[in-house]
Amino acid sequence: MARESPSMFRSRLQQLDTQSLTRHLHTLGSATGPTIQLAGRTVILLASNDYLGLATHPDVIYAAIQATTQYGTGAGAARLVCGTLPPHTELEQALATFKQTPSALVYGSGYLANIGVIPSLITRGGQIFADRLSHASLIDGARLSRADLRVYRHRDLNHLESLLKRTPPGRPVLIVTDGLFSMDGDLAPLPELATLTQRFGATLYVDDAHGTGVMGQSGRGTLEHFGVEDRIPFHMGTLGKALGSSGAYIAGPTDMIQYLVNTSRPFMFTTAPPPASAAAARAALTILQQDPSRRARLWRNRDHLFAGLTRLGFHLTDSASPILPILIGHAEKALAFAEQLLAQGVYAPAIRPPTVPDGSSRIRVTITAEHSPEQIDLALSAFERAGQSVHLL
Ligand SMILES: *Cc1c(COP(=O)(O)O)cnc(C)c1O
Repeated sequence: MARESPSMFRSRLQQLDTQSLTRHLHTLGSATGPTIQLAGRTVILLASNDYLGLATHPDVIYAAIQATTQYGTGAGAARLVCGTLPPHTELEQALATFKQTPSALVYGSGYLANIGVIPSLITRGGQIFADRLSHASLIDGARLSRADLRVYRHRDLNHLESLLKRTPPGRPVLIVTDGLFSMDGDLAPLPELATLTQRFGATLYVDDAHGTGVMGQSGRGTLEHFGVEDRIPFHMGTLGKALGSSGAYIAGPTDMIQYLVNTSRPFMFTTAPPPASAAAARAALTILQQDPSRRARLWRNRDHLFAGLTRLGFHLTDSASPILPILIGHAEKALAFAEQLLAQGVYAPAIRPPTVPDGSSRIRVTITAEHSPEQIDLALSAFERAGQSVHLL
């Protein structure tokens, strides 16, 4: 007989429900792509971070199959125990070459990388300044480090500078920020942040989860976009978004990477990523470098959708990327809009607190290289009808 769950969980869930803040898992009936199967219907997907469509690319799938055939489904242990396999090392070499850094280190996920690296950069007695819209994993990494954490207003350099000025000299300072903000789609002012970092003798940690493969002439990310790669010696990015696999990396100086290997607990005390995901990420990296047409298609699609949503009169964030959030405000209204969109054949989720600050619930729309112009036009019609039905337009 199934055991009854304690009533405290039920009452806490009911409390979330009254605030329109409950979340539900939806199982798709297909792979993610420009369209998906959901509850027996085909709908246009505008929610995936697989920006270049590489998660279903035949070469990427083939690399995963080959690695599995050769090395098995699981790495068997943590990297330092006996889990380092050729796909891991080859991926790290390929990442360092791509990122033009001496070394790179792969983690099981971006979340693990952030909670693993930040405590290796700073500890009790230090001071961390984080952009208010930094990803949750950066905040959790900051908390784990035991350094003091202060949040500065989103992209507000004057606020950050005033906080830096009030920090006693000699105190270690770490500044953390997304490169491309995951829920707003706007960019951190990296050149100015690099300047402030140098001026105050601080360290800068950039999380480029969404920039990797998307931003910059060669897809190297937000640092390339701003031309600051030689001013920011290390940064983090993920393999589960534009690179279509899973995991994350730190690219940087060899001494730093060796220090992480020796001290970073979410690297040391976790089983190595499956050989398949490392091989898939490496294959995706090769395609990214050899075929710029995917990125060109991504940006064409992004401009098409951005122009259409703007023309319809939606209130968008200050996006500079394929993430195009429509600001709504109340969680309840955002949910109603998402439901109407789904009824019209478009899946784009309502993003609510605590993922975004109170009162800034939104529909987070993402576009990929794989969407056709016809699908984008269909989606825009759906946005128009759904927007009218919930009185947003
Ligand atoms: C997705 C994301 C992460 C977490 O990466 P995972 O590999 O999904 O764990 C970290 N930081 C940012 C900014 C992200 O968008």
